[in-house]
Amino acid sequence: MRAALRRRLLQAVRTDALASFAPADGVWRTRCLHCRRALALREDGTAIGSASLEHVVPSAWFGRRAAAALTAQVGEDADDPRNLALACAPCNHGKGASHDARGPGDARARDVVAALLDARLARWREPLGDGMGD
Ligand SMILES: [Zn+2]
Repeated sequence: MRAALRRRLLQAVRTDALASFAPADGVWRTRCLHCRRALALREDGTAIGSASLEHVVPSAWFGRRAAAALTAQVGEDADDPRNLALACAPCNHGKGASHDARGPGDARARDVVAALLDARLARWREPLGDGMGD
């Protein structure tokens, strides 16, 4: 797994109020942003099982006028930790086939992403220190 991806997965859990770190086994545990299935990451950010990185506002929507109200909430940066979350692979891929493909010009797609972003921001916390730095 690439270092940049591991770093973003760690940023997502460190800023996720539902995530906890168990020093005994060195594993972060949280829940899928969509379906709340239990997900886990190793201490170095390597995903375990079906955990995957989700960009809540799709990366391709940044710079698009129709998505401006959404991208502004995460500092106009697709890789801002506020825009990163853990999702299980089935949810992440299911999403990719629906609203990502329709794009920000589609009102229903914008509503789906706005609700997801609300859910992500409701789980926001200031990053927990874990000695990894960033
Ligand atoms: Zn899921």
